[in-house]
Amino acid sequence: MKALCWEGVNKVAVRTVPDPRIENAGDAIVRVTASSVCGSDLHLIGGYVPAMREGDILGHEFVGEVVELGPGVRTLRTGERVVVGSTIGCGGCWYCDTGRWSLCDNTNPNAELSERLWGQSPAGVFGSSHLTGGFAGSHAEYVRVPFADHGAYRVPLGLDDDAVVYASDAVPTGWMAAEMCDISDGDVVAVWGAGAVGQLAARSALLLGAERVVVIDRYPDRLAAARDNAGAHTLDYRTTDVQGALRELTAGRGPDACIEAVGMGADSDGLTGVYDRARHLMRLRSDRSGAVREAILACRKGGTVAMVGVFAGAVDGFPLGAVMHKGLTLRSGQQHSQRYLPVALDRMARGDIPTGYLTTHRMPLDEGPRGYDLFKHKTDGCLRVVFHPQG
Ligand code: NAD
Ligand code: ZN
Repeated sequence: MKALCWEGVNKVAVRTVPDPRIENAGDAIVRVTASSVCGSDLHLIGGYVPAMREGDILGHEFVGEVVELGPGVRTLRTGERVVVGSTIGCGGCWYCDTGRWSLCDNTNPNAELSERLWGQSPAGVFGSSHLTGGFAGSHAEYVRVPFADHGAYRVPLGLDDDAVVYASDAVPTGWMAAEMCDISDGDVVAVWGAGAVGQLAARSALLLGAERVVVIDRYPDRLAAARDNAGAHTLDYRTTDVQGALRELTAGRGPDACIEAVGMGADSDGLTGVYDRARHLMRLRSDRSGAVREAILACRKGGTVAMVGVFAGAVDGFPLGAVMHKGLTLRSGQQHSQRYLPVALDRMARGDIPTGYLTTHRMPLDEGPRGYDLFKHKTDGCLRVVFHPQG
């Protein structure tokens, strides 16, 4: 089959690779009909996440048709149209039982590798680094879905591929970010990053009771989309004093909660080598323009900062003093697909969370390198690219 593979820092290519096969009783094989690129893929292709290997198949946000099932799968039938969560949960460990699916103890075959870096291992993730299992991703004609009873969800009628694909990851992430803010009526929530994740976090915050959401970015088309579709007030950080504007909107206090939806290395380019990049990154993030730092400094005393942007290593210049003296609550994490995907599908089917507008570009897998280039550089109004591997 054809698959879009990582070929080294900022290089992707379409390769012919072996078709996936059922390896365990709980596996399903899904024929992919749509697979979105995500900001997380930019961290991966840019070499910001250690333990990527040449030939790794990218993609973790996808919808498709079940074509084969292992003998242990109970809830799915071949021919069904499913959307699959990007994190893999076993459904049986303490973490899965308590709703913390992305922290599952049993789905990362390379747990030792991530324990060395992070002390403990999170769950496996499709199309990501070998730190989270090195599972083949969905930018391919077919994908193996392990623990399919706990990861694949039937698509409600009426949601087309280019809209429902975001139920895998972007909608659950935005919803989780907003939920982490423990929103009370009347709250103002500020969101750094007007990518799909930031826009969906803003939309979710309004649905969860925020009076006002403010989205911060530098791309006018993304900011306009956040106003039109997510109901956000927007700030362009190139031309606005963000801290001052946020205070003005909040009677001088600052937002009740701040969401960071940017992640690492968003603005750097041109370095080579994973570890050099990681070192550069530490310096980069100590810069005053870093979104994590700005969110912490902007947040009102006693407020919450939810960081859902992806980071792999240490972040220098982290203002722990401000966190302590302002009495802030910090929250973070990889979204729990199995907990939030059903909520996402329900809200999307009811029209509460529009997502179709996020797909500004759709193309066959063969055009993968062009798609990544558009998304990385945010050119041609690109908000998200969705690949259609079946053409
Ligand atoms: P994206 O690349 O489309 O959007 C990121 C946006 O951040 C861009 O519009 C960029 O201009 C903006 N930005 C860069 N620097 C900024 C700054 N200093 N202040 C404000 N905005 C700034 O990415 P996306 O798909 O929306 O994903 C956003 C982040 O969420 C990524 O880090 C991604 O890895 C992460 N993510 C996390 C999870 C999770 O489970 N926690 C899931 C999906 C994605
Ligand atoms: Zn588990």
